Amino acid sequence: MSDEKPVRHLLGLSGGKDSAALAIYMRDKVPEMEYFFADTGAELPETLEFVDLMADYLGKEIIRLNAGRDFDYYLKLHSNYLPSAQQRWCTINLKLKPFEQFVGEDTVISYVGIRADEPQREGYISTKPNIKTCFPFKDDGLVKADILRILDESGLGLPKYYEWRSRSGCYFCFYQRKIEWVGLYENHPEKFEMAKQFEKYDEKSGKRYTWSQGESLDELIARKDEIKARSALNNKVTKPKNLMDVALKDSEDDDDDSCLICML
Ligand code: SF4
Repeated sequence: MSDEKPVRHLLGLSGGKDSAALAIYMRDKVPEMEYFFADTGAELPETLEFVDLMADYLGKEIIRLNAGRDFDYYLKLHSNYLPSAQQRWCTINLKLKPFEQFVGEDTVISYVGIRADEPQREGYISTKPNIKTCFPFKDDGLVKADILRILDESGLGLPKYYEWRSRSGCYFCFYQRKIEWVGLYENHPEKFEMAKQFEKYDEKSGKRYTWSQGESLDELIARKDEIKARSALNNKVTKPKNLMDVALKDSEDDDDDSCLICML
């Protein structure tokens, strides 16, 4: 009998719609799939609730990575310097490294939910030779409308944060649009306050460290009516009928350079 370990099949859930739809899509195709969720310790309650619903639906445990080492732990290690699009230590420490540790030296196929209508997107491809990445939606030609249909037909629908935010990830994520910060303020005021506490002003250098480019969260919220008015105008949406309607119309989230690993 061979001592060789069987190939592991892994699918990471981010709490976002694409990885959730992929898990549903692959459930019966790869019964031995292992599901995991890299919890940053700064997730929205809606995300955690959705991951629990997914576990029920899949009938399998969703393994939580990062036990004991959350965002705060790494923030201290980085001398309280906030992560940013240029310094994305959060993704490396809270998403990439835990994934590679979880894989170890095993031979793995990693399933990633990039769609066929996202040619510009690239998923995280590990440089480790024992990890092979595959893209079932791309390979099978599935686009955004298919993903929404899969979620709808499963009965799971979209995570509730879609009412005000178009992506999963940390509540303070620097990739949030201004209107999403307003959404955080209105839906989770306590988390908005917590995000504010991270912002800093360095008296010596005169430099400000803010989550949103060019302004502090206090300044952003002071002009929330203007931000809301502009967003409504841009989207030309009066009142979407339901969450699927929001997701279908909201294409902006697919065109930015936000964190694929956190938000796919
Ligand atoms: S969601 Fe945003 S803040 Fe959180 S780990 Fe990803 S990039 Fe960093």
